[in-house]
Amino acid sequence: MRIVVLKFGGTSVGTIKKIKKVANIIEEYKKKNFKIIVISSAMSGVTNELIKKSRHISNNFSGAEYDVLVSSGEQVACSLIAGRLIHKGFKARSWLSWQIPIFTEGSHKNSRINEIYKNKITSYLREGGIPIITGFQGINRNERVSTIGRGGSDASAIMFAKFFKAERCVIYTDVEGIYTTDPNQLRKAKKIKEISYEEMLEMASLGAKVMQPVSIQDARLNRIDVEVKSSYVKKSGTLITKRSNIINNKIITGISSTHNDAKVTLVGVKDKPGVAASIFKPLSKNLINVDMVVQNISPNGKETDLTFTIKTEDLSKTKKIIKDNKKINFRKVLFERGVSKVSIIGVGMISTPGVTFRMFQALASKKINIKVISTSEIKISVLIDKKNTKKALTILHKEFKLEK
Ligand code: ASP
Ligand code: MG
Repeated sequence: MRIVVLKFGGTSVGTIKKIKKVANIIEEYKKKNFKIIVISSAMSGVTNELIKKSRHISNNFSGAEYDVLVSSGEQVACSLIAGRLIHKGFKARSWLSWQIPIFTEGSHKNSRINEIYKNKITSYLREGGIPIITGFQGINRNERVSTIGRGGSDASAIMFAKFFKAERCVIYTDVEGIYTTDPNQLRKAKKIKEISYEEMLEMASLGAKVMQPVSIQDARLNRIDVEVKSSYVKKSGTLITKRSNIINNKIITGISSTHNDAKVTLVGVKDKPGVAASIFKPLSKNLINVDMVVQNISPNGKETDLTFTIKTEDLSKTKKIIKDNKKINFRKVLFERGVSKVSIIGVGMISTPGVTFRMFQALASKKINIKVISTSEIKISVLIDKKNTKKALTILHKEFKLEK
């Protein structure tokens, strides 16, 4: 069986008109003789509304009831899609996660799919049916409804592609694909034809919020080709695939940026084992996400400086935690708001020397000062003044010839 998994996001099923459009897209695959598994998210805005209701009922709303409540949006969208397909003369029906079932592990609100029973769906596909399946939800081993985290219908789609050995998983959304950088910031941003899982993971966690990062990791582990495309316009999208499938000799694939960061520097910290751990332990306990971390080498072997970045909204909490931390000694602490991280990403940099130099020189040519630098195998990030973000994106996009 040639199986394709089609996933429709909230905006793609946001109105009745759009749902009719979705049914037309499904019809096109049907004509090409694919066996189709459809995964749908809730109509846009619905999940947020349901979460609001739970908060109004109780500020300590039960996790199990939360899952029953917020996963209901998917049920609505699936029945509407199925209803439209039936109207058009196709054999289709909605499937809720417990009817299949889709099993999850982990705690309520934040479970993970670990098994999908295939029998019923396989026979339904054989009979020529089109199953329209609720994304985002599952059931746990106690037969309670569970959900798999915000944006989780992407992960549902990837898991269906895995269990049913689908030829491809197509993520339909409101953008045409993955761009070299945020098109809202830089008009010259171009759609990327093919991107590796590793690059996509870097892009996703850095702000290109097209797909949920966990789902990309699942796709990578299971070697599933994922195509991201628009449900509004008929154009090819971006293929997320393994590196060896990509025939592209660009050094840099994309540039991402953050917008709301703050920098914290501890000056004159004692240079001895355990200090960094003492600094970061209370931060992690308070769920403060620390991003870039750099420590200077100690010129005298006694003291060093340590800098890290956080989200600006965590700044006041962080200030308090550091001031209250009796386990660390330092001479002074500096806080700076209004910084942003700009990263260039590309597997091509592994085999190409001089990328770092080109990045720094390009920034220098626009008199952009670099505050902090960090690198990984396929990424170089710099921290700069937020007001220079657009300038940096523009010059780097040009330097690495991404508009071509
Ligand atoms: N409807 C869920 C949410 O809004 C799942 C999803 O959209 O993927 O988070
Ligand atoms: Mg989504």
